[in-house]
Parts: sequence; structure tokens; C-alpha cells
Amino acid sequence: MVEITDLHKEFGHLHVLRGVDLVVPTGSVCVVLGPSGSGKSTVLRCINELEDLTAGRIRVGGELMGYREGVRRGAPALFRRTDKDIARQRSRIGMVFQRFNLFPHMTALDNVVEAQVQVLKRSKRDATARAEELLQRVGLADRSDHYPSQLSGGQQQRVAIARALAMDPELMLFDEPTSALDPELVGEVLGVMRDLAASGMTMIVVTHEIGFAREVADQVVFMADGVVVEQGSPAEVLGNPQEARTKDFLASVL
Ligand code: ATP
Ligand code: MG
Repeated sequence: MVEITDLHKEFGHLHVLRGVDLVVPTGSVCVVLGPSGSGKSTVLRCINELEDLTAGRIRVGGELMGYREGVRRGAPALFRRTDKDIARQRSRIGMVFQRFNLFPHMTALDNVVEAQVQVLKRSKRDATARAEELLQRVGLADRSDHYPSQLSGGQQQRVAIARALAMDPELMLFDEPTSALDPELVGEVLGVMRDLAASGMTMIVVTHEIGFAREVADQVVFMADGVVVEQGSPAEVLGNPQEARTKDFLASVL
């Protein structure tokens, strides 16, 4: 389960997140919608500890991210975790970005092997077996010796998903994973994500793919100006939005 409580993020004077509350139960899929600049990526980056929070709490699987609870002068207080601890927490979360971010000098297979060996200290043999299994799962068993430049955008993104899954994450974050793809390649990536959701993975997905949200999401969240404006089932938020800003946004993307 992911629990975000009163999350605030400031960049200098810019107050980007203004008290975000969100609960994503284990095994469920949360789709986050919202206009450009509303803070969607920042929420994901805070969950993954790519950004320091200004205030608030994020828990993944019950564990507070980035900080440790303790006592200072008799009062409850938070202490920054060690870098090692943060690296361990981050390794439990897979993230897939709009740009595929594969290592260009490595084959698809080696892209999926690399962090397993470096971070999880798996043997090359075990890591390779796992990578082959995952490339098969994303439909790329026959492309494992291709370099990123020899793969389509959709194929690269599927390798990126396999690479994230190779770390056995308990949570997957997707930040507009299909936005950079040619339209005809979007479906193959959404298909992999749909299968992943069906396998029980907990997922938070920022996307403008309303069809995916309608079919796959357990919960749809609409953000604007750094807060959650509206949330509920796809039928509620997409089918019967209550807030004017949600209605305007949906009218603009549908
Ligand atoms: P988009 O749909 O365009 O991806 P978003 O909802 O993901 O938008 P964010 O990327 O989270 O929006 O950005 C929210 C706000 O925070 C924007 O105004 C952005 O300019 C600002 N912002 C994001 N990262 C930084 C940063 N590192 N330094 C300063 N401002 C930032
Ligand atoms: Mg973004």
C-alpha cells in the first residue's frame, strides 16, 4: 500500500504540491490525470525519493520513505535516512519515464541484467535467466541482442518496463510512458501494462490515455495546481465528474 499524507513540495518560492493526500491499496492501479504543471511528475518523484519533500509523509508498505521516525528532546521527530537506506527503499520501486532511458551501449538483455548484478548482487547467470524471462513477458524474446537504437520506441519502452521489473519492485510508477511514442506503438506498451496490472502489481500511472484509465484503473485521481481535485472510480471521475476543472480537462483530452 502507498499512503501519501499532506505532501508539500516547494522549489524555491514555487509551491508546487500543496497538500496531496492519496492512498493506493496493494495490488491496485491508480491513474493520475491533470493538466501540464499540476504536479503529477513531482508526486511520483517524491515517492521515489528523487526529490526531497518539503512537508508531509509518504509510506510504501508501511515504511516511511526518506525519513525515520524517532524522538528528539522527548518529542516525536523525523530523521533523514542514510543514503544506503534510501537506496534500499528506492530499489523497491520501479519507475518508467516518458523517455526510455535505456543504456545506449548495451543490448536489451544487458539493460535488463545490469542493475540486477550491480544493485541486487545477483549472479550473472541468474540475472540473465530473469532478464530472458522478462523480455519474453514483454514480447521481446527475439530482440534481446538488439541495441536500443535498433528498437522501435515501443520496444524500447517495453525493455524499460522489463528492466524495472527485474528489480522485483513492490510498486511501479509510470510517468506518461506512452507520450513520446508514435500512435501505432502506444497499444503494445499499454498492453504490457495491462498484463502487469492483471498480475497484481501495485501501480501509479500518470497518463492521458483515458481508455487505459477506464479499463485498468481501480482509482482515478485528477490533480490541478498541486492538489487532488477529485478522485474515485473510473466511472465516477471519468463518467460523472463533479468538479468544473475535471470536466474541462476531460473535454480537452477526449
Ligand atoms: P506535465 O504534464 O507537463 O508533465 P506535471 O503535472 O508532471 O506536468 P510537474 O513536472 O510535476 O508537472 O511540475 C509541476 C510544477 O513544478 C511546474 O510548474 C514545474 O515547472 C515545477 N517544477 C518541476 N520540477 C522543478 C524543479 N526541479 N525546479 C523548479 N521547478 C520545478
Ligand atoms: Mg510530468
